[in-house]
Amino acid sequence: MKSKIIITGGTGYIGSHTAVEFINEGLEVVIVDNLSNSDISVLDRIQSITDVAPTFENIDLTDRVKTTSFFERHKDASGVINFAAFKAVGESVQLPLQYYHNNLNILLNVMDCMDRFEIRNLIFSSSATVYGLPDSFPLTENSKTKKPTSPYGNTKKIGEEVIEDFSKVAKNFKAISLRYFNPIGAHSSGDLGETPTGVPNNLMPFITQTALGKREELKIFGKDYDTIDGTAIRDYIHVVDLAKAHVMAFQRLMKNEAKENFEIFNIGTGIGYSVLDVIASFEKTTKQKLNYSFVDRRSGDVPVLYASTAKAKKELGWNPKLTLDDMTKSSWEWEVKKNIL
Ligand code: NAD
Ligand code: UDP
Repeated sequence: MKSKIIITGGTGYIGSHTAVEFINEGLEVVIVDNLSNSDISVLDRIQSITDVAPTFENIDLTDRVKTTSFFERHKDASGVINFAAFKAVGESVQLPLQYYHNNLNILLNVMDCMDRFEIRNLIFSSSATVYGLPDSFPLTENSKTKKPTSPYGNTKKIGEEVIEDFSKVAKNFKAISLRYFNPIGAHSSGDLGETPTGVPNNLMPFITQTALGKREELKIFGKDYDTIDGTAIRDYIHVVDLAKAHVMAFQRLMKNEAKENFEIFNIGTGIGYSVLDVIASFEKTTKQKLNYSFVDRRSGDVPVLYASTAKAKKELGWNPKLTLDDMTKSSWEWEVKKNIL
């Protein structure tokens, strides 16, 4: 029988790409999502890529009763990949209670059900934001974590602490937290990608929307950082490579290869690119000319952030393969296709 995996938030940006990778590996995928930040049409897109229609249930995972009955129906699952969360950093500063309520209650309900129905394996979506303003680079999993600068980031830090505490006492429970750096890019089919609501906060969707004429110009936040060209540096990771990291982390748990009940892995490429590097790659791969200007630094931004990915490479056997050019090109193809669909 096929191994069954529950993907919460599976119609979202990263969850949908991960669903494709799990289906490609021959697993049975069950997606649970309340569609608060995604569209039901994603299911058809997953099917058109994989020829498989994943099971889908529309449930608000903060609803304890409905979440419990969902897990009762799928108690034969071998694991959970927990993507479901609100993720807008700026919005979380304005709406802290909504962010703590949603992100933490989802995790608590999911873990409570895993405990009750003896589902042993959890992969958690964490973020490089748990490192706060780092003291040194590259960031390893042993680098000090700090209180993140936003309530959103804090839900990731608290989430990891909840999982760690539970993993110390729960029988046979194993979890892996993946700390994503900057996920960008889209599926090579052009059928899956990021769909931000309203004005994008993140760099890549702002670039593609500007090139398409939806936005007048990109504002580059800061040109006086102590970096090679004065703009801030990030570790961009292609969403398909990121999705594959979830499959490898899950396989590690299934094969009982985890060295501890709770493990943490950085997921980036280990390479830092500046904002101007991203723009240069975008202009090269898409032949589009981007309008941009420089403005003041964005408050809360760190100058430089990139990962050491040595642990993920060694322990998970995961090696990101897609380049910055693959990321900018696929993001553009998705933006164009999405707007003519
Ligand atoms: P996304 O918003 O596209 O996907 C999250 C999904 O969760 C959405 O489909 C949304 O409808 C669903 N959801 C939210 N609240 C829910 C609830 N109460 N019940 C059921 N479903 C609910 O976000 P994404 O970019 O795919 O991110 C996935 C995960 O990765 C999130 O946990 C996010 O915090 C984390 N993460 C994302 C990034 C990034 O840059 N995209 C970086 C680091 C970590
Ligand atoms: N950025 C920018 N203009 C924008 C959006 C982002 O200059 O409109 C910069 C931002 O300052 C950071 C990088 O692009 O240096 C990546 O930002 P993003 O919001 O995508 O991710 P973050 O690293 O902040 O999570």
